[in-house]
Amino acid sequence: MNALTHASTVMESLPAVRGSYEQDAALGQMTWFRTGGRAEVLFKPADEEDFIAFTRGLPPDIPVTIIGVGSNLLVRDGGVRGVVVRMGKAMAEITIQDDLISAGAGALGVTIAARAQEAGLAGLEFLKGVPGSVGGALRMNAGAYGCEVGDIFVEARAIDRGGQVHNLTHGEMEFAYRHTGVSEDHIFLSAVFRGQAADRREIAARMKGIMDAREQSQPLRTRTGGSTFKNPDIEDSGRKAWQLIDEAGCRGLTVGGAMVSEKHCNFLINTGDATAADLENLGDEVRSRVLESTGVALEWEIRRIGNKGAKLS
Ligand SMILES: Cc1cc2nc3c(=O)[nH]c(=O)nc-3n(C[C@H](O)[C@H](O)[C@H](O)COP(=O)(O)OP(=O)(O)OC[C@H]3O[C@@H](n4cnc5c(N)ncnc54)[C@H](O)[C@@H]3O)c2cc1C
Repeated sequence: MNALTHASTVMESLPAVRGSYEQDAALGQMTWFRTGGRAEVLFKPADEEDFIAFTRGLPPDIPVTIIGVGSNLLVRDGGVRGVVVRMGKAMAEITIQDDLISAGAGALGVTIAARAQEAGLAGLEFLKGVPGSVGGALRMNAGAYGCEVGDIFVEARAIDRGGQVHNLTHGEMEFAYRHTGVSEDHIFLSAVFRGQAADRREIAARMKGIMDAREQSQPLRTRTGGSTFKNPDIEDSGRKAWQLIDEAGCRGLTVGGAMVSEKHCNFLINTGDATAADLENLGDEVRSRVLESTGVALEWEIRRIGNKGAKLS
């Protein structure tokens, strides 16, 4: 069966929804790297109820992959089998009551940071520097400038592959550095965060400080996926990932159209025509050079999904 026939077969077995299905969707173009393969089927739910009904009606043999806004994601050139779900604005409602901020999994961290500032709630400023969705931030325990999602987390709701909805406490999230212990088959639906009452101008000033620091140190406005590798345990290596990469002589290294950023060498950049394979091969080359020269095995932070293979246009 060729790829398009297989995708049509997947399409035919999907439950009726109020949102939209798109066959053979250009998924890689939806990521920050702006490259990579296609999704057999892309589903955009109309709202949370629609998404829950979809999950419950989905035949168990069809794989499902959730993505946020693709700021930490590399879609391999051979594309992704089954259904890829992108929640987007349909599940992005944000409400604030007292010191609690509730948000749908599709809401953007930057929007939450702005809303919290307007409401005079501090502690969420770091989200201004993380260009992802709530779902991605929960899965990655995203963090910056000494704060991470686990610090502001109150509770979350997630649905498993069997269609059961779970309320997750802080302990059940098992937060660790850029990681949560929650099963990969759980898809986050929403979360509640807590801020602390503070002066709006002071919060705004901290957010500006974060934006200025990012401007100085990160290759913003490029096709990148943020930090490529997790920082290793500082006690073992004594250095951050970028320092190890620099020490191994990888700053500016290229493979095809992929390049290690000159500005922040833990960032990989698509200089224009990189394939996902160029980016992954460059990351693997960096890993092996760092291992050889420093003895430290870097761990990928960027999530890689899909099949290796020829790039389908
Ligand atoms: C310029 C730049 C700067 C960055 N700076 C930082 C930083 O300072 N700190 C930091 O931590 N990260 C940073 N990142 C990385 C990225 O923004 C975060 O990891 C972010 O949390 C990813 O969110 P996303 O919506 O883009 O998720 P995606 O990249 O789309 O997906 C990431 C993972 O989350 C999973 N996921 C997404 N939604 C859900 C859901 N609803 N339920 C379950 N799983 C889900 C996906 O399956 C995937 O495994 C940066 C990225 C860029 C491009």
